[in-house]
Amino acid sequence: MQIMKKLNLDEYLDSPKNLVFKSEVELRSLEREDVEIFQLEAARRKLARQAKRIPALAKKLGEKDPAACESFDDLIPFLYSDGDYKSYDKSFLKNKQFDKMTAWLNEYTSYDLSSVEMTGCENLSEWCERLYKQANIFICHSSGTSGTLSFVPRSQADRDLIVDSLAGANPDLFDVNERQNDVDFFTMSPRRSFRITQVLYDGLEGKYLKNPVQSPFGSFVSPEMTIAMSKLRKAAENDTLEECLKDPVVASCAADVGRFTNEAPERIRNWIANIKNNYIGKSIYFMGTFDHAWELTQTFQKSGLTGAFSPNSVFAVFGGVKKGTILPGDWRQQFKAAMGTEKIVTAWGMSELAAAAASECPEGMYHFNVYTIPFVIDPRTGKALPRKGTQNGQLAALELVSEDCWGGIVTGDSGTVHWDKACACGLNNGPLLELAIERL
Ligand SMILES: [Zn+2]
Repeated sequence: MQIMKKLNLDEYLDSPKNLVFKSEVELRSLEREDVEIFQLEAARRKLARQAKRIPALAKKLGEKDPAACESFDDLIPFLYSDGDYKSYDKSFLKNKQFDKMTAWLNEYTSYDLSSVEMTGCENLSEWCERLYKQANIFICHSSGTSGTLSFVPRSQADRDLIVDSLAGANPDLFDVNERQNDVDFFTMSPRRSFRITQVLYDGLEGKYLKNPVQSPFGSFVSPEMTIAMSKLRKAAENDTLEECLKDPVVASCAADVGRFTNEAPERIRNWIANIKNNYIGKSIYFMGTFDHAWELTQTFQKSGLTGAFSPNSVFAVFGGVKKGTILPGDWRQQFKAAMGTEKIVTAWGMSELAAAAASECPEGMYHFNVYTIPFVIDPRTGKALPRKGTQNGQLAALELVSEDCWGGIVTGDSGTVHWDKACACGLNNGPLLELAIERL
């Protein structure tokens, strides 16, 4: 029998980011109590270290001593709020004051952005490009469903972490010591954008993949297009299109958005057909909606094909199923039989965090990563709910792994955490989060 040395978390107190390469077997062997002792001490050290480097965090810490945090709840005042990464003055964008946008962003990174030249900068795309070219900071903006984009400045170290955490979480698929893994990576998101997805694709191609990432959408989707898409969608729902088109950003992108939307169904059909026709038997990573993963399953069933892909293939799915679709009770078995893999994974995360905060287990529960501290907060008072029993409230997380951003955030999501329940999957090194997560 192979005896494995138990992971000594003390070795990671000052460099928790190395935990992203630890295997599931090693992480599974950890005791809950040891994980919590590690998390609290690593959080104190990270707070002390990053408050010296990140101005927004220094402001939150003020004169307080990180070593005085005696419990997890004591860390909550130092987490960013849901709106912090979009707290810039909206007139900066309207008036093209991109130097002021940069000064605002400078508060949220350990990098010094003061020498980035913004003279003549015309729009958000150009702002992102200049920060990337001149300071090697890659902006990751949000989807803007709230109507305002958030901007997270990612350094090279954090970008490496984003891709390493994905590769590290899938050791059967990616040998992290191998730069040329023969894996075909399919994603439904646009290949090029100033978003966390591009960080992932560039990083995978640069560090781990032999083959290029394949997306139905090869052309660049700008931050302006993202804003316009979100505003046009809302306007269509509220029947206010005419008014919406008066917005200069929307007006300048309306044609591109129209083309993108019209072409999308056929592009996705071709993308699916390509996977079906050309990648049977291969190791693939599929990142797309559950609906499309299920569509593939059914197509294979119709043509009598089983075990379509190599068993180490992974299906990272999001978005649930279309309204009105009822899945059979044994969908997992059907999926496995058709696809040849049982690795269908979902995760809870957000662009403010470099790694996923929690990943789904076969029993249908999210387990938090060892390097992510979860919190449940009463949204009315902002106070922590007890870390015991079952609690429903606003979710917050402190990620210990990021290097140049502070990874602590009170999210806009609400969910239910079981602090003391054992999971039937056998992984019991932390609390469980139910899959049903809603926007507050
Ligand atoms: Zn579980």
